[in-house]
Amino acid sequence: MRIAVFSDIHANLHALEAVLASIDAAGVDELWCLGDTVGYGPRPNECVDVVRGRADIALCGNHDLAALGTLDTTDFAGDARAAARWTQERLGPEQRDWLASLSPLATRDGAELFHASPRDPVWDYVLSEEVALASLLATTAPLVLVGHSHVALGLAWDGESLTGGLAPADTEAALDEGRWLLNPGSVGQPRDGDPRAAWLLIDHEAGRATFVRVPYPVAQTQTEIREAGLPAALAARLTHGI
Ligand code: ZN
Repeated sequence: MRIAVFSDIHANLHALEAVLASIDAAGVDELWCLGDTVGYGPRPNECVDVVRGRADIALCGNHDLAALGTLDTTDFAGDARAAARWTQERLGPEQRDWLASLSPLATRDGAELFHASPRDPVWDYVLSEEVALASLLATTAPLVLVGHSHVALGLAWDGESLTGGLAPADTEAALDEGRWLLNPGSVGQPRDGDPRAAWLLIDHEAGRATFVRVPYPVAQTQTEIREAGLPAALAARLTHGI
């Protein structure tokens, strides 16, 4: 079984199309999306349509819930709040209904999936060893998959010690060596210093997961962000992946 895991598309259609082309070239049996299909970016309805059509599992994230109006955005930073309001006004009825049908967590084939973390599937950020360990101890599946932080991570727990950390392009995780917490990174708004779109290939037969990065036409998304009247900082950050 080969599974493509991707997350945090954030309405960046060009990044999503590049990731799907890379996934199709690799050849997989299933596609799993960990949420935040919309928010920040300029093409929310198109991204929802593509994920709805392709993903075997899709979760919702905090930005999806904010765009639906079911999550209070007062905790959002200014640009995120402005983008959530912009998205709320543009989401189509079908896209809205589909997002509203999603859960922020799921279980499948030896994996537990969360948009954010097992402790709080909507809001918690797994960005420290302490939170990664707490997440592994709060679950039992061999694989724990999270998104939300936009930082690719791979941490292994053998029952005694935690190893691993940041997972730049081409990092491989040996899946038979303990339980793993994996974050594929972000498709549409990477924040780990690599501006390329991110996804994760889980290959159960080979016993490994591989972190993949894919270039996409960043300037096209930046132009669309500016033309949409979304905050300019949301375009600028895509150049550097921060
Ligand atoms: Zn996100």
